Amino acid sequence: MNFNKVLDNVTIYEAGKPIELVVREYGIDPKDIIKLASNENPYGTSPKVTSKIKDIAENMFVYPDDSMYELKESLANKFDVEASNIIVGSGSDQILEFCVHAKCDSNSKVLMSKTTFAMYEIYGRQTGSKILKTKDNEHNLEQFSSMYKEHGADIIFLCLPNNPLGECLDRDDVYAFLETIDKDTLVVIDGAYQEYASFKDEKKRINPKELISLFPNCIYLGTFSKAYALGGMRVGYGIAQENIINTLYKLRAPFNITTLTLAAAIEALKDEEFVSDCITKNFEEMKRYEKYANKKGFDYIDSYTNFITLKFGDLYSSKEVAQNLLERGVIVRDLTGYGVNAIRITIGSNDQNTRVFKVLDDVLEKLK
Ligand SMILES: *Cc1c(COP(=O)(O)O)cnc(C)c1O
Repeated sequence: MNFNKVLDNVTIYEAGKPIELVVREYGIDPKDIIKLASNENPYGTSPKVTSKIKDIAENMFVYPDDSMYELKESLANKFDVEASNIIVGSGSDQILEFCVHAKCDSNSKVLMSKTTFAMYEIYGRQTGSKILKTKDNEHNLEQFSSMYKEHGADIIFLCLPNNPLGECLDRDDVYAFLETIDKDTLVVIDGAYQEYASFKDEKKRINPKELISLFPNCIYLGTFSKAYALGGMRVGYGIAQENIINTLYKLRAPFNITTLTLAAAIEALKDEEFVSDCITKNFEEMKRYEKYANKKGFDYIDSYTNFITLKFGDLYSSKEVAQNLLERGVIVRDLTGYGVNAIRITIGSNDQNTRVFKVLDDVLEKLK
């Protein structure tokens, strides 16, 4: 059967391996499996959110509020913008999709960093756009600038901080770059880990309201999947000027957010203490990984997120390390496919990390 030709160039996104698969393939007891491959919040769902979900479980025969009035009001309040500046999606992933499909066709160009969130390229290719990537793995604004000058771009992705590497550009440098960008180029600021970055370093903080008033061609994306611990609920949001939001709305199917999801997100926004507590623990635990890497003599990327990227240089093959960890019940992300000899580990809870170091000790000893 013939399909749309542009799909020939689209690869299928490979999600972090689920626990069920490791149980099936390696016969490991689920309670002995540690999943640190998808940057989920290891401290679980906030109890307040869980209890809210249970409260409304009987009302699932009614369609959700498609205006998403209460969630949008809560977000508008949090970010000091108007509800009309907000679009909510089934994960911020869905808004990424809307952005690319709103802006791009087969004559378009999409500019991104070499090693960044895989969906930017996948959505770009779905539209038949040309994909432009900088030379360095980590975000390098000089390279973004020179490629933009040479080729132009219809849409630019900045992942602040960047997944899967963890680095983060300073806000002032981003602003200086945005000054040079044409008003017809849509710039997507992916803030999936902004809560972490702005906690660690004020210089990284992006304020969506300020961003879109200074640069009306920008959209800021946030998600409930990481710091807010709602990966299973699928909810994210975009903040931009109304003309952008109204255009993205044309791509949205009705009821794209479930009633449970709406309620969970609203409740999660009321429990900021839970979030800041998780973020504090995240960076305490991250220090243990940095120490561990130093002790073992390999490099890591200074991370502004809830994961850390360990670079093995000539010491080990990341693919082998990841595979051996998997066989011992520890799921991490190998970055070989991104052209980097590194693994990305989500920072787990204290107990989980203790176990990771123990298992890593064994694996590194074996692969020496
Ligand atoms: C996790 C993530 C997202 C979106 O996740 P959703 O679960 O779809 O909200 C977007 N960008 C980056 C860089 C991410 O890591």
